[in-house]
Parts: sequence; C-alpha cells; structure tokens
Amino acid sequence: MWYKLIIAFVFGTIFGSFLNVLIYRLPRNISIAKPARSFCPNCKKEIEWYDNIPILSYILLSGKCRNCGWKIPIRYPLVELLTGSCFVLSFLLANSTFEAFTFSALAFSIILLTFVDLEFMIIPDTSIVIILISGIIYSIITDSFITNLITSISAFLILLLIRKLSNNGIGFGDVKLFSASAFFLGPVGSIVSMMIASFSGIAFVMIPLLMKKIDMKTRIPFGPFLGWGIFVTVLFKTYILRLFGL
Ligand SMILES: [Zn+2]
Repeated sequence: MWYKLIIAFVFGTIFGSFLNVLIYRLPRNISIAKPARSFCPNCKKEIEWYDNIPILSYILLSGKCRNCGWKIPIRYPLVELLTGSCFVLSFLLANSTFEAFTFSALAFSIILLTFVDLEFMIIPDTSIVIILISGIIYSIITDSFITNLITSISAFLILLLIRKLSNNGIGFGDVKLFSASAFFLGPVGSIVSMMIASFSGIAFVMIPLLMKKIDMKTRIPFGPFLGWGIFVTVLFKTYILRLFGL
C-alpha cells in the first residue's frame, strides 16, 4: 500500500506542476500548448527541465529564477505539495483504484478553481468539465448514476432560483460547480457539502468583517469554500453518511 501512496504523491506533484501552468495561463487566455515549455513570467526565458522539477527545483533555486533572479511566488511549490497530498488522500480513502482516480481528478479541478477564483473571481469551465466527467464515471462505478443525475438537475434549478432571488448573490460558476459535483455527492452529500462551504465561508469572513478590514459590499469568492467543502465530503462520505444513520 505504501508504495502506491508514494507513486500517488509523485504523480500528484507532477500534476501540480501542470496546474501551475493552467492557473497562470487559463485566466490570461494564453494557449496551454504554445509555448509548450514553461517560461519565467518575469524575463520570459524558457525554464530548463532540471529547473522545473516539482518542489525540489524551488528549494534548489532558493525560490529565484536562475536567469533574472525573480522571486518565484511560494504558490508554485505550494500547489505542487497540495496536489501531491490530495492525490495521496484520494488513494488512501477511496474504495478502489478506479475511484481514487476520479477523486484525484476532482482534487485537481478544485485546486485549479481555488487559485483562479481567488485571483480573478471566476471559476474556469475547464475545472467544471473535469468534475462533470469524473463525477459521471464515479456515479456509474458506484451504481448511483440515476440518483445523482436527479440530484444534479435539482441542485442546478434550486441554485439558479436562489441566484435570481438574491440578485446574482451567487455566481453562475458556483451554480455549475455545485451541480456538476452532485454526481460525486448524491442528495445527502450535496446538502452536507453546502453546509460545510457556507459555515466555513461565514467563519472565514467574520474576522476581517469585525476588524472592519472589509464591509458587506466586498465580494468574496465562494468557489474555494464550495470546492473544498465538496472534496472533504466526497473523501469522508462513508463516515458522514454513518453520522446521519444512512
Ligand atoms: Zn526570470
């Protein structure tokens, strides 16, 4: 089992490295294929393969571009470490290898949308499409496709109604994200993940609100809270369902 987890971690950091490319390029409308090689956002010089090893290169380069000395944001190794850790958790908690792949795909999309939403206040459609496809595969292998399809459509309609009533209080990206995730969550999981997302969102906003650093008009991206609420629920679904006596 342990060797499987090490492989999951290594592949996770490689996918994390690719995520850094997506997080930078997708919201800036830069093609993913061109340029094929990673480049330094500051001096635009292509990065050699030996300077592009997940986590390790950041440490070896002391967090600076070899060419221009630009300080590489800590986000780069963090995304790689986070993706590696989420892949390990997926393989640790899934019931089968196939299921673990779908969990890993879910984690990949959530990390992508987290960093894009924090910076640009948008949830990229790429992440929603990956969640939808991996969620449908998950629901088929766990024999819950019909139930989760109905949950997904209901979630979409309910959130669309809330969005209309609250005068676009929640983004359309959040609506799409939540209904796509319903293929992983099912009815109970959907409610639980929405509760986790709402409570953690409120708790997180409370401190800056009380310190008057932000006011009620400040826009806070809800995508990251929703995304991580979904991931935690999917990982610990069995335990959560047992808690509700299901
Ligand atoms: Zn540079």
